[in-house]
Amino acid sequence: MAPMNFDSRISRVRELLDDAGIAMILIASAENCRYLTGFTGSNGQVLVSRDTVRLLTDGRYTAQASQQATADDIVIYTSLAKELPRLVSEYAGSAIGFEAAAFTVSEWGRLATETHGTDWLPVGDALEKLRVCKDRHELDCIARAAAIAEQAFRDIEPVIQAGNSERAVAMELEWKIRQAGSVAVPFDFIVASGSRSALPHGVATDAVIQSGKPLTLDFGAEFGGYFSDMTISGSVGSSDSWLQEIMAVLQAAQKAAIDACKPGVSCRDVDHSARKIIADEGFGDAFSHSLGHGVGLAVHEAPRLAATSDDILAEGMVVTIEPGIYVPGTGGARIEDMVVITADGCELLTSIPKEHRTWGEQSDPG
Ligand code: ZN
Ligand code: ZN
Repeated sequence: MAPMNFDSRISRVRELLDDAGIAMILIASAENCRYLTGFTGSNGQVLVSRDTVRLLTDGRYTAQASQQATADDIVIYTSLAKELPRLVSEYAGSAIGFEAAAFTVSEWGRLATETHGTDWLPVGDALEKLRVCKDRHELDCIARAAAIAEQAFRDIEPVIQAGNSERAVAMELEWKIRQAGSVAVPFDFIVASGSRSALPHGVATDAVIQSGKPLTLDFGAEFGGYFSDMTISGSVGSSDSWLQEIMAVLQAAQKAAIDACKPGVSCRDVDHSARKIIADEGFGDAFSHSLGHGVGLAVHEAPRLAATSDDILAEGMVVTIEPGIYVPGTGGARIEDMVVITADGCELLTSIPKEHRTWGEQSDPG
């Protein structure tokens, strides 16, 4: 596996300091703290100036921070609000940036009060944008996370059968994924059977899987902090032709979007290439979410593949392509793969074919 390169990440933050005209930046989202220093504790902030990188955390993480973090200085505090005035005082007179999305309004109110007189400047999504193009190490981790999830899925397919509950399938899948090395899972797995398959986010319930009905599974794994995200749809036992029809539409829509992915193409156009096929087949209103999203240290991150997105694809981005069709009361389906944008197109990171799948029926209940 390729090594992590914190130096190049920090130099891109320093370019941001120059572009925004700020002396220092306070970073606080868990993903960005990990991205910039390697620290994985549940509480931490990173202060990057032109000459130092400081990791700030509390006493629970003294040992972990010194083992994990690549930083010039580690500051252990009992209260961030009480510690911060000292840290910003050396930059008095200069504007200091902060990662606005990482603080609640009440948290920020307290910090701003304690650092009264500091010229704080919110930096929007500039930090998240630093993470959109993945380096070799990150791509290796994401590929491992995809492989873990796919192998686990293949292992548990025999459990997908009429008579078992959605939750039983979800728990089996999560157990396999964690057993294979995932410390975390990206979200509560979706196992949506029967008419529940019309719920795009139908998290597994105690509902019992019925024969002859649609089933959608949306799941993923984690490796080295990076996630994978994939969706497989089909039916348990034989299904009616309606489901086969919408699965064929989804495959055509997904293929058009994957064919459209390459550097320089707008995410809006990729979304449109899939959405147009679904609409032309008469299911336009039934595709009720955006086509896809970036995946990395967060399972949902930039860029957004949506009708309203201004993002442009670039080499190294990892995105999902996940068209869906949902008809309330009847059912639905979604297929989701992950691709990495290459110099002249894209490559799949997931490998299980997304054709209509038929899972077995229980021959001997009990
Ligand atoms: Zn998903
Ligand atoms: Zn997704």
